[in-house]
Amino acid sequence: IIKNIELKDKLINAYISKRLDEALEEAKSMDSYKKGRLSPLSGIPIAVKDNICTKNLLTTCGSKILSNFIPPYNATVIEKIKKEKMIIIGKTNMDEFAMGSSTETSFFGPTHNPWDTERVPGGSSGGSAAAVSSGESILALGSDTGGSIRQPASFCNVTGLKPTYGRVSRYGLVAFASSLDQIGPIGKDVEDVYLLFQKIAGRDIHDSTSLSSSLPEEKLKGKVKGKILGLPKEYLGEGIDKEVKEIIEKDIKIWEDLGCKIEEISLPHTKYCVPAYYIIAPSEASSNLARYDGVQYGYRSKKGKNIIEMMEETRDEGFGNEVKRRIMLGTFSLSHGYFEEYYIKAQKVRTLINEDFSEAFKKCDFIITPVSPTPPFKIGEKISDPLKMYLSDIFTIPVNLAGLPALSMPGGFTKERLPVGLQIIGKPLDEYGILNLGFAFQEVTDFHKRRPDGD
Ligand code: GLN
Repeated sequence: IIKNIELKDKLINAYISKRLDEALEEAKSMDSYKKGRLSPLSGIPIAVKDNICTKNLLTTCGSKILSNFIPPYNATVIEKIKKEKMIIIGKTNMDEFAMGSSTETSFFGPTHNPWDTERVPGGSSGGSAAAVSSGESILALGSDTGGSIRQPASFCNVTGLKPTYGRVSRYGLVAFASSLDQIGPIGKDVEDVYLLFQKIAGRDIHDSTSLSSSLPEEKLKGKVKGKILGLPKEYLGEGIDKEVKEIIEKDIKIWEDLGCKIEEISLPHTKYCVPAYYIIAPSEASSNLARYDGVQYGYRSKKGKNIIEMMEETRDEGFGNEVKRRIMLGTFSLSHGYFEEYYIKAQKVRTLINEDFSEAFKKCDFIITPVSPTPPFKIGEKISDPLKMYLSDIFTIPVNLAGLPALSMPGGFTKERLPVGLQIIGKPLDEYGILNLGFAFQEVTDFHKRRPDGD
């Protein structure tokens, strides 16, 4: 892992900060532990997205405004992985405050896709996905507010799980949009992701939205005969890349051969998902990001004649353009006179989207979709056109609005050898089910075994 980082990370830029010497020391100390005291994850290297607080370790959120922030405490997920004696290799690059789909808005420069370094790795957990894909880590943690675990997993040909809202504690995750944010695992395959998921999930008194439901303990068996897979007719229509569509259709046949039944379903409010998300997420963000003012922590501007001017200058210099755009959008939607018309309306739409899924799940066990409408795009291709960028999340955003669990896993390759991801959406709390369906697929395919510098 360390060799790979030294060899590749100058080009890939998956990490914002690394702790290789300490990691090596920790790895050596593993030998002195008694076998019984180790778990399957002990000694396994893990990369952590840089919006998850790590005690005494820089946590920048990909932003200038937190470029000097060293948290005094660990996020709950960090306490949990430490308990397993996993080894934190470093903190991974991300879109600033997790706002983006390409890791291009990071203050620390873009991450490059290991499959084609002229392309984006997806975002916002682009560093975490690229690190696993290029062998610069075994596992990684990401966060997903509108697709930020699943879309980069898809672009980098790795596996990523967005758990049910509340499954994993958000304590210590720097908040973007609190009603949508969720931490989840990224790994090379479904088994690795399941192992890490089991360890990070669970009720936490520090997060009142965390759930106390019991966690799956069963092994993945891949028995999927008779399961009904729903295909939303709204998802495979216009706007989707031809090759992506063909690949997903082929993948569905594979499950059919395994004994699954295919059912066409409808999610009629799909076209309102992106607009509703881009009201709700920026609204919550504008409120969450009000705390960065240069007073208590983080970057502080030297300009300004009084405290108000200092705060204004700090925010002006400390935030990048995309973050400012979201703060303005959100402040507008929440402002007097527009609140009902935008924010409340978006919340009503969210209820309709929820109902779409509840209806659909009466007819099927799982919903299958592409993760992204296109294969990985070129660096620079969408960054100057925010609407184009926002539309790339069209298949992932609905899941966050409805709080559902969803898996992104390797589903095939384009003629240009670019990875295409499959999304499996499950009923609330059915992470086991979606991972098991993924496992069955993985047993008869080898897409997940392919590496950027291999075959
Ligand atoms: N790309 C989406 C956005 O820009 C989702 C980001 C995320 O999931 N953190 O908001």
